[in-house]
Amino acid sequence: MAKVKTSYFCQNCGHQSPKWLGRCPSCGEWNTIVEEVIQKEEPEKGSWKVSTSTKVAAKPRAVSEITYSDQPRILTPDSELNRVLGGGIVPGSLVLIGGEPGIGKSTLLLQIALNLPGQRVLYVSGEESDQQIKMRAERLSERRGANCFILTETSTQNIFKQVEAFEPDILIIDSIQTLQSSFVESGAGSVSQVRECAAELMRFAKESGTPVFLIGHITKDGSIAGPKVLEHMVDTVLQFEGDRHLAYRILRTTKNRFGSTSELGLYEMLGTGLREVTNPSEILITQREEATSGITIGAMLEGNRPLLIECQSLVSIATYGTPQRSSTGYDAKRLNMLLAVLEKRGGFRLGAQDVFLNIAGGLKVEDPAIDLAVCASIVSSYEDIALPPTVCFAAEVGLGGEVRAVNRVEQRIAEAEKLGFREIWISKYNLKGLDPGGYKIKVNTATRLDEVFVGSLVTR
Ligand SMILES: [Zn+2]
Repeated sequence: MAKVKTSYFCQNCGHQSPKWLGRCPSCGEWNTIVEEVIQKEEPEKGSWKVSTSTKVAAKPRAVSEITYSDQPRILTPDSELNRVLGGGIVPGSLVLIGGEPGIGKSTLLLQIALNLPGQRVLYVSGEESDQQIKMRAERLSERRGANCFILTETSTQNIFKQVEAFEPDILIIDSIQTLQSSFVESGAGSVSQVRECAAELMRFAKESGTPVFLIGHITKDGSIAGPKVLEHMVDTVLQFEGDRHLAYRILRTTKNRFGSTSELGLYEMLGTGLREVTNPSEILITQREEATSGITIGAMLEGNRPLLIECQSLVSIATYGTPQRSSTGYDAKRLNMLLAVLEKRGGFRLGAQDVFLNIAGGLKVEDPAIDLAVCASIVSSYEDIALPPTVCFAAEVGLGGEVRAVNRVEQRIAEAEKLGFREIWISKYNLKGLDPGGYKIKVNTATRLDEVFVGSLVTR
């Protein structure tokens, strides 16, 4: 009998330490370090072992000598998933889909597994029984799902035994936290287990060329499965976000070795599964009959995708001493900055006002092109003057109250035009190479905030 070996792991970031510590030296969290048993047995038959002895040692090769074999990607019937993966599933890739429990990760992957034409998919579930999955599958798909096979198993060694016999084209693991490898003795879901299981699956994916999808439950602070280690190990990390009480879900790429990381897919959760949203702007803008003050539309870019989103502000006199500033879906510090700019450069007395800002649709916006729409929305609420619903904005606002240029303004204007807007405000510095008369939409330009408000808002 080998001696039991243990080590200490931070449950937040995966940092390993030989002794217990009160505070993790890597991520700085308190009380996150837990002892885990890591005693390893010799790899036995059935595990996905690296055949080091038979492998030919790699030699240096000139770049020009390396032949590029462009393996065709597997296209799924889900165009949103293809988009976030950078154009389909790459053979031999390990993809992690993270998100809060109950958000619909299993639904998304099961739906794809059921509808993939001509691919044998093995869906390994440690969360639900096969009857439960069957019930869910019947809700999701009218097809019989003849190519989708379910295995309820949590031991990686057993899974690999089945995989070797079955040879699936795609392997789906639901979820990585339920897996257990016999080479590590600590419980399922612990840092060392998650790490070991992911490493075994990575070796399997790379050696067999089979793409593997992992579902990972996210912890409250937003890191996947506690250990950030997992994010470093896999090829692609997709985050499945959204409010579980709202119908819309966002699939966002946060890491991708095979494509851009700024892609975004949108879904609507229906009783029959997830529906792709192909025209996102339509759902992000409230259909309103009459104009309301405090509501403006901004043209933002999410990845390569232009989106029109709604900014809602409510400005009212602070009843308690300190004015409240609250923002949902938009950086609170940036909101404070814009409020200071409006106060100092625009002369709006916002210092004694409560300001609430909300980006409709549950989206988190980082694109600075939304600044002007935010400012306009605040001023509109403060002055209680509603903007016509046919006006939108696309410009950054600087500390001096200047209206700054944004990238790819043509795409933003084109999207606004497509959705039937009649006027868009952009920075004058964006005019280079742009023909404002070439659009059906009226293109207004400004260099300073006051020009926008005199021109569009306050005088109306
Ligand atoms: Zn840590």
